[in-house]
Amino acid sequence: MSFLNSLASIVGSDYVLTGENALPFLSDWRGRYTANAIAIVRPSSVESIVHIVQLCKQYNIAIVPQGGNTGLCGGSIPNSNSKDSIILSSTRLNKIREIDLSNNSIVVEAGCTLQKLQDISLANNRYFPLSLASEGTCTIGGNLATNAGGTQVLRYGNIRELTLGIEVVGPDGDIVDLLRALRKDNTGYSLKDLYIGSEGTLGIITAATLKLFPICNKKWAILVPLSSIENAITLLMETRCFFDSSLTAFELISQFSLKLSLDFLNDKRYRLDSNFIDHPWFILLEISVIDGIREVDDFMSNRINFFMEKCIDLGYIDDAIISSDNLHFASLWHLRESIPLAEKNFGKGIKHDISLPISLIPIFLSDMKKSLDVYFNGVRIVVFGHLGDGNLHYNVFRSINQSEENLLSLQCQIYDLVHSKVYELGGSISAEHGIGQLKVNELQKYKNANALGIMLRLKKSIDPDNIMNPGKILDI
Ligand SMILES: Cc1cc2nc3c(=O)[nH]c(=O)nc-3n(C[C@H](O)[C@H](O)[C@H](O)COP(=O)(O)OP(=O)(O)OC[C@H]3O[C@@H](n4cnc5c(N)ncnc54)[C@H](O)[C@@H]3O)c2cc1C
Repeated sequence: MSFLNSLASIVGSDYVLTGENALPFLSDWRGRYTANAIAIVRPSSVESIVHIVQLCKQYNIAIVPQGGNTGLCGGSIPNSNSKDSIILSSTRLNKIREIDLSNNSIVVEAGCTLQKLQDISLANNRYFPLSLASEGTCTIGGNLATNAGGTQVLRYGNIRELTLGIEVVGPDGDIVDLLRALRKDNTGYSLKDLYIGSEGTLGIITAATLKLFPICNKKWAILVPLSSIENAITLLMETRCFFDSSLTAFELISQFSLKLSLDFLNDKRYRLDSNFIDHPWFILLEISVIDGIREVDDFMSNRINFFMEKCIDLGYIDDAIISSDNLHFASLWHLRESIPLAEKNFGKGIKHDISLPISLIPIFLSDMKKSLDVYFNGVRIVVFGHLGDGNLHYNVFRSINQSEENLLSLQCQIYDLVHSKVYELGGSISAEHGIGQLKVNELQKYKNANALGIMLRLKKSIDPDNIMNPGKILDI
């Protein structure tokens, strides 16, 4: 039997896609990578994944796991220099296996979308806090494989901190069952943490046990204009001290990013006064309380007003828009969440997903501006991100008279400029999007050589035939 026929005998011929049917799976969300694959395979059970992996091992064919294909580093698209591959799409493996309210935990399969998990948690009077603008499409497997972050990390941590257990099919087809629902489990090396963030290079994540939380019944979104980045950091410190764990998000938006989002939405519901917009920086912060009792809401509402007035008096902030109801709350968030789509609409750019010690962010921003002015005068910078986590999306777009192709051809030089500064300041070249195929060279430059050596030895020992997502993270 041919390889394709054998695949069809495992999952059914309807779920082995080739030709035209395969095309939607072969390009990434940003449109930066397009590749070929022998087929797209769409299994719906762990057992069929085991058989697919065994078959690929027998034929020495690589497996590229793909969830929602919203990754921003080309990890879910085959590397064109690697051996022949299939894409294993997880979206049919999407059941909720179990929910345990007394343990505040849920067991979900990898292809379940983040949105579905959030909705099911809410229907069970619980909250799953991971929140990304791609949540309608991205999957839990992809979230785990990239160790996704998003807007609520400040309060709840990234998905690594939300994970109790994991189930993986390894490169031999063995099921590594680490699906514990325990808060305490000191039984040797934490293999769960090895698979989280491994971007499909060590195995296929098939399920996970995740933590659930009480629902915050009342939330406020507050949009604050600021005259300097230093003031944004002072506001972060003060807000943390004043609101402690009720501060659930602290997002930075540059003026250019806000204007891009407003233009993209082009709707009077999102209109802001020109005096308000006439600031270089904005913070969207979120305050949440669990109770939702009238007295508690009123108390918190008064505290928020008191705090904002105090900040205006002290000169950290010039103004603040405090959400008045759920619709207003959603529209303020929509302004922030629309930035990636507005950027996509604006064109292709050179994206940096960096993290820095928060205190050094002003130095980074001013040094970068000077360097870009000297070497790439006129390029436009979209800066936004999760300031509360020290995570900036620092994206460079073409100058008015420059072609997109010309800008993209400068990727290595612009990466050098930005990433070497990040490295000098003790930051990271990938805060939450991962390495994929986009930043393999960058990782080699900036990761500690001994740490890189251990990563390489781990990869070779777990996947000696290099069939799991070759050419991603590491240059093998
Ligand atoms: C509009 C937009 C906003 C975004 N905002 C954020 C954000 O705020 N924070 C953030 O962290 N990310 C963000 N992202 C990036 C992206 O959504 C995340 O990286 C997400 O976790 C990817 O999930 P996915 O299912 O789409 O994975 P994919 O794109 O399909 O895959 C990503 C990587 O995971 C691997 N993988 C996928 N499934 C599995 C599996 N079952 N087993 C093993 N490996 C697997 C793939 O091989 C690939 O290497 C955003 C993306 C978009 C388009």
